[in-house]
Amino acid sequence: MSYVLVTGGAGYIGSHACKVLAGAGYIPVTYDSLVTGWRDAVKFGPFEQGDLMDRARLDEVFAAYRPVAVMHFAALSQVGEAMAEPGRYWSNNVTGSLNLIQAAVDAGCLDFVFSSTCATYGEHDNVVLDENTPQLPLNAYGASKRAIEDMLRDFEAAHGLRHVIFRYFNVAGADPEGEVGEFHRPETHLIPLILDAIDGKRDALTIHGTDYDTPDGTCIRDYVHVMDLVDAHVLGLKWLEAGKPNRVFNLGTGTGFSVREVVDHAGGVTNRPVPMHEGPRRAGDATRLVSGSVRASQELGWSPARSNMATMIADAWRWHQNGIYLR
Ligand code: UDP
Repeated sequence: MSYVLVTGGAGYIGSHACKVLAGAGYIPVTYDSLVTGWRDAVKFGPFEQGDLMDRARLDEVFAAYRPVAVMHFAALSQVGEAMAEPGRYWSNNVTGSLNLIQAAVDAGCLDFVFSSTCATYGEHDNVVLDENTPQLPLNAYGASKRAIEDMLRDFEAAHGLRHVIFRYFNVAGADPEGEVGEFHRPETHLIPLILDAIDGKRDALTIHGTDYDTPDGTCIRDYVHVMDLVDAHVLGLKWLEAGKPNRVFNLGTGTGFSVREVVDHAGGVTNRPVPMHEGPRRAGDATRLVSGSVRASQELGWSPARSNMATMIADAWRWHQNGIYLR
């Protein structure tokens, strides 16, 4: 059995990736600082606590497991925070990833699957966002991820680091079996905040901006189920194992939902009212982020089977009512 090093394996997407890796016959090794992750979320494979800034600890973990590949999820990922504290994003995401990439190359672990984001594209009016769209990020989160993509290309040229880059659109939902789920503290993401408002964990949802140039004035996003997203990562790993070339893939469905539409779906799925009020725009938010790409389906054979809004909300709701992590 082969080990795969999963940075951020105690986080939302990383914990789901560990589950599908284990199901696909790999042993995921979670490397996580627990700054934003949860010890309880590590249910598949060994746990190694460590920070990406700690090169000696990374070397130790590479030497102990000799992983065949890295899946790199660990990152700070909040747009609002990135606007307020860009230095943390450049330092943690970019310097941390540089340490990881150098450690992987030095250990001879040359297959790398990277978690990037549609936030690297920024604002493009009436343009379909595909993998060739110019990357003009609006915030330090997107900028830090774009810089790491550049880093991977440089390490490929110099050291043969093979990589698949996934640019995620908005990830939602939870493991339908309820073993892992989404749990951020503080929570900033739309669907869990709606569910908090529905069941009284917060007073109301604030809609961040109602004057965008969209049919109902609120921002539009492309939501993809976390299980579909992590399935794509296993396909990406196999792509590299098969010796296929380095590639960038958008992971989105091509369907956009406005904030108000997501709220309406959540009210319908849970059959409960959603307390909400309208607020100002949130700095750094793009008006519309919808994938226009079919590359992942055509080339990887990816079929996002659970990524319809009702299923994503139903899975998130089930988890929301049952799942609480402790560090
Ligand atoms: N949003 C909102 N209220 C909230 C949180 C988010 O109106 O309390 C909006 C946000 O402005 C964006 C969309 O919901 O248009 C998705 O935001 P989220 O933070 O979930 O993901 P992002 O698109 O920033 O990655």
